[in-house]
Amino acid sequence: MATLIDGKKISTQIKDELKAKVEELQKQGTSVTLAVIQVGNDPASTVYVGNKKKACEYIGIKSLAYELPETTTQEELLDLVKKLNEDPEVNGILVQLPLPKHIDENLVIQTISPKKDVDGFHPQSVGALSIGQRGFVSCTPSGIIQLLKRSGIEIEGKECVIIGRSNIVGKPMALLMLRENATVTICHSRTKNLKEVAKRADILIVAIGKPRFINHEYVKEGAVVIDVGIHRDENNKLCGDVDFDDVLDKVTAITPVPGGVGPMTIAMLMNNCVESVL
Ligand code: NAD
Repeated sequence: MATLIDGKKISTQIKDELKAKVEELQKQGTSVTLAVIQVGNDPASTVYVGNKKKACEYIGIKSLAYELPETTTQEELLDLVKKLNEDPEVNGILVQLPLPKHIDENLVIQTISPKKDVDGFHPQSVGALSIGQRGFVSCTPSGIIQLLKRSGIEIEGKECVIIGRSNIVGKPMALLMLRENATVTICHSRTKNLKEVAKRADILIVAIGKPRFINHEYVKEGAVVIDVGIHRDENNKLCGDVDFDDVLDKVTAITPVPGGVGPMTIAMLMNNCVESVL
């Protein structure tokens, strides 16, 4: 019988621990403030920003919302980021992606001070992770490490296959699994014999962006499967990159969608905000 890795429960545990930490910090006279910038009104971004604000409220983090019009120029946005970099009251800065096409996302990310880069996307944060130095780690991969550890799943010495090499999931995930002493393989759109490679995995992490792509043919008997994908299927039902029902009999543990990796991303963002004052 496969274990369901309960991201909702684990993310609540983490948020409750952070809430207690923030209360402690407040007693010592330290508050935590996150600035959230949204440009335009992409409906998905509005939902994500709303969820981040709610999580801040729950934990006791002050959130400052900057809702800028779609027509905001790159210069105006960069000026705001620079102003927030200098503001001693602001501990973390988050610019909700994607940005409108006329704005260079990379330039905006590079302008955020690495000390306030709670998304962990700044090249300095990524570089620190790759050479094992302290820095902010991007939230979805660090949430997956927490899911594994808090579910009692051993990582050290295990064969880990990651499908996907994006900058926000696949690559930092590989670095984190390496830091935890797994033997790591990264697969991508040009990988040959994906099924054979995926089947080596004791821990298979799927961030491919294709609904229900991974079925039982990609999964070794007894593997742990982590599904990062999130999609709406033809019936408007949420699903992941993994065909959950098809692999369930083969796995020892799996994350559901929804309620697996998704809730962990915000919990780890909150964790980074708290770490920014420590
Ligand atoms: P992406 O599109 O940037 O990257 C997808 C990766 O999959 C690429 O590196 C590509 O090489 C690889 N890929 C594509 N087709 C492939 C194939 N046929 N075989 C092997 N590899 C292939 O996606 P992303 O930003 O990493 O996100 C992946 C998924 O995770 C998406 O569904 C996204 O919505 C979801 N996501 C969820 C969260 C969360 O908090 N739950 C966070 C980020 C992303």
